[in-house]
Amino acid sequence: MMTHISQRVQSLAVSATLAMSQRSAELKARGVDVINLSVGEPDFNTPEHIKEAAKRAIDENYSFYTPVAGYMSLRKAIAAKLKDENGLDYAPEQIVVSNGAKQALCNVILATVNPGDEVIIPMPAWVSYVEMVKLAEGVPVPVVATIEQDFKVTPEMLEGAITPKTRMVMLCSPSNPTGSVYSRDELKALADVLAKYPDILVLADEIYEHILFTGSFTSMASFPEIADRTIVINGVSKAYAMTGWRVGYCAAPLWLAKAVTKLQGQYSSNCSSIAQKAAEAAYTGSQECVEEMRLAFERRRDLVVELARQIPRLQVNYPQGAFYLFPEVSAYIGKTTPDGKAITSSGDLAMYLLETGHVATVDGAAFGVEGYIRLSYATSDDNIREAMRRIADALSKLK
Ligand code: PMP
Ligand code: GLU
Repeated sequence: MMTHISQRVQSLAVSATLAMSQRSAELKARGVDVINLSVGEPDFNTPEHIKEAAKRAIDENYSFYTPVAGYMSLRKAIAAKLKDENGLDYAPEQIVVSNGAKQALCNVILATVNPGDEVIIPMPAWVSYVEMVKLAEGVPVPVVATIEQDFKVTPEMLEGAITPKTRMVMLCSPSNPTGSVYSRDELKALADVLAKYPDILVLADEIYEHILFTGSFTSMASFPEIADRTIVINGVSKAYAMTGWRVGYCAAPLWLAKAVTKLQGQYSSNCSSIAQKAAEAAYTGSQECVEEMRLAFERRRDLVVELARQIPRLQVNYPQGAFYLFPEVSAYIGKTTPDGKAITSSGDLAMYLLETGHVATVDGAAFGVEGYIRLSYATSDDNIREAMRRIADALSKLK
C-alpha cells in the first residue's frame, strides 16, 4: 500500500524512553522476568484525595469542554502555587494547562520558534527536546557538559553557543537524564549571561522541582533580569504520581500564553476536564504525599549510587534530584558478549543488558551523548538491588 508520511514525521526520532519501555513490556508479556528501569515515572499510586476529587468531578458532571487554557479554578490554584512555593507573580491568564508538560513544552516551542531559529539545548537532555525543536523546523544547538562537570553547562559555554539566530535556551533542573541540579548561584550566573541578550527566550522545564535532595528549589523565573521572557513548565506527573492523567502547564508572558492558547485551540482543545479537577485537588490539598514520595526517592538514590559505585569501571555522578542515574559506561564499549556479539555503542550495551541481564535501561545517545546509559530508579528497593546485581553480572561477562 502506498504511504504518505510527511517529511516532518519521517525526520522525527521515535521516543527512546517510550520505545524501550514498550520493548520491556513485550518481553514481560512473553514471560521474561524483566526489571524496567527505562521509562521515568513514579511507581506510586496517585494519592487517595486526588483520586476522590476525580470521582467527584465525574459525579458532578465535569464532562463538558473546558476553557482551552484550563478551568479558571485550576489556573488560580497554579498561580497560587507559583506564588507560595516559588515567589513568582503570575496572573491565572498567564497560565495554559495542557496534556502534560510534554504538550506544554511543544506548544511553547511551536508558538515561538520559526524555521531556522536556533534553540540552545544543554546536553545530556531529555529525548523530546531536540525532536520538538525539529518539529518547529528550528535548529537544535547542543551544548554538551561532561560527567566531570556534573553535566552542568557553565556561563562561558552558554555564551559561546549564542549567535544572532538564537531564539531560545532550554534548561532542565533537576535534570532528566542526569539528576543534576543547578544551584541558585549557578542559575544566577546563567541568568546574568542571558540578561545581556534580551531577544532570547528561556524555557525552564521545572517538572522535577519536588524531587530534589538539596533543600530549596530555585525557579529560573525568579531572576528579575530575565523573568519577563522566561517560561516555566511544570505539571502534576512527577510530584503527585500522576503520569497517566496528563496535566501540565506553561506559565508565560501574557502575549505568549495567548499564542499558546490559540495554537492549542486548533489541535487539542483542553486537557481532560476530570484530570483538571484532580490536578486542582493536588495543588490545593495536603502536600504531605509529595514529601513522602520525595523521601522514598532520596533513599533509593542513595541505594542505587552505592550499588553502582561497586560495579567496576562505571563512572557515576551523585544526582541531587529527579530519579535517574546516568552512568558513564565507555569502559565496556569495544568488548564482546559471551555469544560473540561486539558491543560497539552504548545502544548495543543497553540492548545486551535487556536481552541478557533482563534489565531495561535507555541508551545515552537518545539524550545526545554516546557512552552512557540511563537508569530510572523510580522502583522498589528490591527491584533496584536485583537490577544492579543483574547489571553487574552481565557486565562482568563481557570480554
Ligand atoms: N520534561 C521532562 C524533563 C520529563 O522528564 C518529562 C517526563 N515525561 C516531561 C517533561 C513531560 O512530563 P508530562 O508530559 O508527563 O507532564
Ligand atoms: N519523562 C519520562 C522519561 O524520560 C517519561 C517518558 C517520556 O515521556 O519520555 O522516561
